[in-house]
Amino acid sequence: MTEKSEHFFRYGDIRTRPTFNPDCEISPKNFKRLVGRYSFPEKYICQIRTDKGLCHQKHNNGWLGVNNDGVEALIGCDCAANYFNASSTFISERNRVIEELARRHAIEKMSGFLSNKIETAKEFIDLEENAKRIKESIDRIYKTMPNDVLSFLNISQRTNNWEIYVDVQYIKNSNSDSEEDDTEQWIKSPLGKLKSLPFQMDMEKLLQNIILLKKFPNGFISLSPSDIVEIKTPKLKSYIKRIDRKEEFRQLLDIYQYDIINFEKVENLELLIYTCDSTAEQYLTTQALMKITGFKAEHRTYIDKRLLSIKEKYESKFNGRFIKKSI
Ligand SMILES: [Zn+2]
Repeated sequence: MTEKSEHFFRYGDIRTRPTFNPDCEISPKNFKRLVGRYSFPEKYICQIRTDKGLCHQKHNNGWLGVNNDGVEALIGCDCAANYFNASSTFISERNRVIEELARRHAIEKMSGFLSNKIETAKEFIDLEENAKRIKESIDRIYKTMPNDVLSFLNISQRTNNWEIYVDVQYIKNSNSDSEEDDTEQWIKSPLGKLKSLPFQMDMEKLLQNIILLKKFPNGFISLSPSDIVEIKTPKLKSYIKRIDRKEEFRQLLDIYQYDIINFEKVENLELLIYTCDSTAEQYLTTQALMKITGFKAEHRTYIDKRLLSIKEKYESKFNGRFIKKSI
């Protein structure tokens, strides 16, 4: 199959064609064939003659048609759908152009890929290394944090609700002489919103996908440009689609990386203290927080001191009242 159809991206490239005439009219009656399609940043007047007269609408996209006199004219995309859909000549021409352009695009992309195969292979290796590094960071968080935090993370990921609430203690003094005790009340209040952390299994899946992508070109890496033209368009397209997934993977890695950086900030990790039921779990969370943020967390006294200062900091936000994990 030849790929003679053209895709024009600038009006100037059509205007300068010797057989193009911006004053020519084109209709299903005098339509002969298509040269190609156009996708312009600006809109240009469509040259279709309809039963109601000349179409004066402007379009960004459409087709460059040739009439029976051999003169070229613009056929706006929407107008083609309205006025040319009954023309079997137009339909088969349109399908030919779409198919030929798709093939040309596929061959160009595949050739580009093969001529840059060393760079692409390096790109895949970088992606894999990056994925392994991010996975290690995520795994470290899950490995370091105690059970209460893990179950909070698990629920938050499933519900996509990262809000942390605490119960705040209020004591009502009874000034009367009655023998009633002071009444204690706990009121639920928002403490803050935790930065989200990626699912461990999503990260694992992404790493596996990247490893498979890295191996994928082995099947066709030795092809030459003359081999490519022997491959049918759907197969070429499937190769390209697969290779192009590297962009999707790169974006996902960027998102995960960004999430982890924010999650590992001290002020974010401190909130986790209030996802713990017991002091023992709070202690372990503080220890994990210190390890993740690069502090020595060897001596019990350091950890206790740190936990105390976190609690004081958050209680001061509630005028020094006691606060605890909301139940
Ligand atoms: Zn039109």
